[in-house]
Amino acid sequence: MCIRDSHKYVQGVEWGHRPYYSAGIGKHFVEVGPPLDTGALRQLLLEILTHCFEWLGLPLIRVSPFCKNKRYFSFRVDADGFTESSTEAALRIARKTGLRFTWFLDMGRWKKQGQWIRRLVEHNQDVQLHCFRHMTYASREVNDINIRKALALMQRNGITPNAIVSPLGCNDKGFSEAIKEQAFEYSSEFGYAVDDLPSFPNNDSAYPLQVPVHPGCSGVFHKAGFTEAEQFEHLYEHARRQGDLDGICLLYDHPNGGLDAHEVQFVQLFDKVSLRGYKYLCMSDYCRAWLQRPRNFRVLFNRGQIEVDGFSDNGFRLEQITDGTIGPVQWDGKPLPQVSSRGMVDEFVYPPHSIREVALEMGQRHLKQRNFSKAGWYTNEVFEALRTYSGYKATRRLLSRVRWLRALRGRMRH
Ligand SMILES: [Zn+2]
Repeated sequence: MCIRDSHKYVQGVEWGHRPYYSAGIGKHFVEVGPPLDTGALRQLLLEILTHCFEWLGLPLIRVSPFCKNKRYFSFRVDADGFTESSTEAALRIARKTGLRFTWFLDMGRWKKQGQWIRRLVEHNQDVQLHCFRHMTYASREVNDINIRKALALMQRNGITPNAIVSPLGCNDKGFSEAIKEQAFEYSSEFGYAVDDLPSFPNNDSAYPLQVPVHPGCSGVFHKAGFTEAEQFEHLYEHARRQGDLDGICLLYDHPNGGLDAHEVQFVQLFDKVSLRGYKYLCMSDYCRAWLQRPRNFRVLFNRGQIEVDGFSDNGFRLEQITDGTIGPVQWDGKPLPQVSSRGMVDEFVYPPHSIREVALEMGQRHLKQRNFSKAGWYTNEVFEALRTYSGYKATRRLLSRVRWLRALRGRMRH
């Protein structure tokens, strides 16, 4: 998207598979995302504002994005499907590092794993929802069925989740309306935003808060030709950069083919990020803190002095970026802490042909399922059930109750 058109941009409406560039490694990878890098645009606008305020000699103040003035990292586990060994591996990483990961479970494939869900909770892990079938649909109604079914299964395990993330990172309107209806506290769709601060879709707090993450996982790095060393070098550099810029970096991966395949490297990565002074904050705790972040306050000009009124800190302080000729802004009888706007250089490198091909190919996947109607979804459920022996038996039992089918079978046998 051209910067000239950015005023027409409505966040979350358009999205698709797109290339991401890793400056440190010099390679691209492909994942779902919005056409506009909103984090970079926000930073650019801040730079422009800083420049204008400096030129006018006015003080520029902001509510810091840094919770308690610290830098954090966080980790999300998208548990797509269940295997004992990959869940064990992910839990071992959590135990070795002492971190509370936020797990999103697709309940269709976790429904028989009650004891493992309890184990996650016993190991102090944060358990949340990733729908029933691992699919995001265009229709609100079908998403609603897919979410309600998962919720019921999760509640049967004694957990009432307050967060959900869309399978495949899709940001269909039907999905955002369904999760608004279900009143989840937060969500995180790659198609809405990545590598940015949290926000409400359409600035409407009736929607769950969107908490963007970094969308690279082992699978996409591998597909894009990153070596293992390059993948972890990229993740470390990204955590550092994003933590310095926005006060938080949220990374993610899957247990199966991700955490289990790179167990040692993940432990090393978390240790390295911690050693650099970044604290760990679980995704749900970060969301809770962010929801308390003050959004509005008044600025008064009183006896030659600028003062802030009606502001309460709630863990996110007020800070001053430019000085101005009038002197420091006062809050609570004290001058505000001064920070400098951190400039950043964003390198644009046109993706090679092979990466554009990957983006196109990935964009074509799952189109049929994503457009399922309600009837289509239930028909698919019957096929899914028939694939398992117990499902086949249950379906046979159900059909044997239908009188005309019984009669037809009887007639065919004679
Ligand atoms: Zn998933």
